[in-house]
Amino acid sequence: MTETGLLVVLAGPSGVGKGTVHRRLREDLADVELSVSVTTRPPRPGEQDGVDYHFVDRPTFEAMAEDGRLLEWAEYAGNLYGTPRVPVDQAVAGGRLVLLEIEVQGALQVIERVPGALTVFLVPPSWEELERRLRDRGTEDEATVARRLETARHELAQRTAFDHQVVNDDLDGCVAEVRRLIEQARTPA
Ligand code: 5GP
Repeated sequence: MTETGLLVVLAGPSGVGKGTVHRRLREDLADVELSVSVTTRPPRPGEQDGVDYHFVDRPTFEAMAEDGRLLEWAEYAGNLYGTPRVPVDQAVAGGRLVLLEIEVQGALQVIERVPGALTVFLVPPSWEELERRLRDRGTEDEATVARRLETARHELAQRTAFDHQVVNDDLDGCVAEVRRLIEQARTPA
């Protein structure tokens, strides 16, 4: 059966486990096309330019946004993040699967601009669990954690705009459910 190209947006608050779910889906699904985002955030230790992100300065990012080279973009915790448009368009037109792991403001732009996209909001099992996960990361200082928690509250309120909400309680179950939604969306009616 020929599968159709599809843009999948995986969003949810920081700490919900988007990165882990995204990695697992990338391993499990045969033809996932990687989208490397552009950001003004400085690289963390071990992160590679062109692999984890395209690391750029603010004027470069702003020029890309103004020229319409970004499918969506948002400011998050003081830094800009965006998805380059051309690689996504080309992959979907070529029948492949593109998985975007992005924050909620950007995901809402995709919902508006790409009617055929499959949008999934990952929900934390509880607020307490989300807070614990954000603190346990240990990569950010307390002010950053507090800012991300405040952002998470606003983000959770947007979840009804998405096609599906999946609770990331048990990782295997969550990955299986998102896979099922993707396979369903790619199977011609
Ligand atoms: P981090 O700085 O931890 O890598 O990412 C912070 C947040 O930015 C995460 O929620 C991540 O999903 C989101 N993010 C990464 N790339 C993009 C992007 O291209 N667009 C948007 N809107 N958010 C992104």
